[in-house]
Amino acid sequence: MLKKGQIITDENGTAYTLVKKLGAGGQAVVWKVRDNRSGIHYAYKHYRHNTRNVRSNIEDLKNIGFFKDKDGKKLDYVILPTAIVEDDGDAFGYIMELVDLKDFTTLPKAWCGEYPDAKVICRILGSLAHVFETLHTSYGMCYKDVNEGNIFFNPKTGEIRIIDNDNIGYASKFTIKGTSRYMAPEICLGEKPTHNSDRFSLAVYAFRLLTGGYPFDGPYTERYCREHNMLAKDAAPVIYGSDARFIWNPADTSNSIENSTDPRQKGQVVYWKRIPQPFKDLFISTFVTNLKPDRRAERPTNSEWIDTCRQLEAETVVCRHCGTVTFGTDVCFECGKKIRRKTAPKPTPAPAPAPVTGPTAHRRSVTFRVLSAGEAKKEIRLNVADTRSGSTISKNLPDGELFRILYSKKQKKLGIRNLSSSAWTIVHADKTKATCAPGDVQALEEGMMIRIIPKTAQLNVLKID
Ligand SMILES: [Zn+2]
Repeated sequence: MLKKGQIITDENGTAYTLVKKLGAGGQAVVWKVRDNRSGIHYAYKHYRHNTRNVRSNIEDLKNIGFFKDKDGKKLDYVILPTAIVEDDGDAFGYIMELVDLKDFTTLPKAWCGEYPDAKVICRILGSLAHVFETLHTSYGMCYKDVNEGNIFFNPKTGEIRIIDNDNIGYASKFTIKGTSRYMAPEICLGEKPTHNSDRFSLAVYAFRLLTGGYPFDGPYTERYCREHNMLAKDAAPVIYGSDARFIWNPADTSNSIENSTDPRQKGQVVYWKRIPQPFKDLFISTFVTNLKPDRRAERPTNSEWIDTCRQLEAETVVCRHCGTVTFGTDVCFECGKKIRRKTAPKPTPAPAPAPVTGPTAHRRSVTFRVLSAGEAKKEIRLNVADTRSGSTISKNLPDGELFRILYSKKQKKLGIRNLSSSAWTIVHADKTKATCAPGDVQALEEGMMIRIIPKTAQLNVLKID
């Protein structure tokens, strides 16, 4: 049992005095400690028992010291262990930086207090995706346990701080499954966390930050627990696993909260309706199209989250009604009032080299030949972030958003996101075929054909530059 005033010594011989207990969990307790020589305060996390993988995981993180992204930039806001402290028996602990969280908040607190504006939301989610991208691609590690207690953000600036990170580790070294409602279906069904389950959890965090709710907590889920007399955590293999039903699944409304009378869910409905479409696309892709374990590898990538956040941040505007910085959509995310008239995208006359302007536009474009039954062939040139509705492309296509052009920095490729409600057939230059489901992104290559409606409407990729 640790006591205030007690002295502990780390593996390097540095002595610390226990100052104050900061928190306690099931297996561990965290203390504020003072370095006896320098007087600097640190945090000390003490485990009552040494479980082999946790201990060895902490050694791994300590040896890494700081994560650095692929550009060599230190992610000094992800706090890692700095030294191990041996204790009696099989107890042990580690020292880490004590972070000043005065200006920071957590997700649940933000919903009750200072809620970030649209620009800040984009920064928070973009930074989190950047951390995941670094862990996955530069270190081969997984975050494993997204929850609401470790991730802090400044609601004014969007800076993040991630403390107490012994959940991070190699997929091969099992330490933790995760936190309920943030775990991917395959984890609820008994598998171990991977990069794919991290990407699922990132989407849950984003969904919760944007709507206040959880993606599968609707009337079906509640009824299942009630009828089986189970707590949600016990019913997790079904309600969050084999039969998880997204509350905003456009094709299956059995778990929809749209007509809920519960005041909290009513609030979630309001916010869902104000979320920009690119975020909705990422949610549909994660929680519907690629929900099942056999589709896990197709879930939106960290880079897609980063690109979407960057794009949406650049498009934010100030609402003239409430003065909040909001998304560049037709209604204000904060007050719900119309912020500008939604202008339908104009058909691009051929061969119209639209000038590349604005902060989001990459100097990249794609030229399509449009082949549509009963219409003359035409060419259209589009830039990154351009969105087109069906009727602007061909009179054979339904109105409503058809696609958006994207750029993946990671793959250094242009892509097209299917914003329509039907799947497209992709025919590559070598005649192999693929499907691009609604919400999915297809990388663009010259010579590729995109059959939007078979034999009726097709786009041929003529040129990428
Ligand atoms: Zn407003």
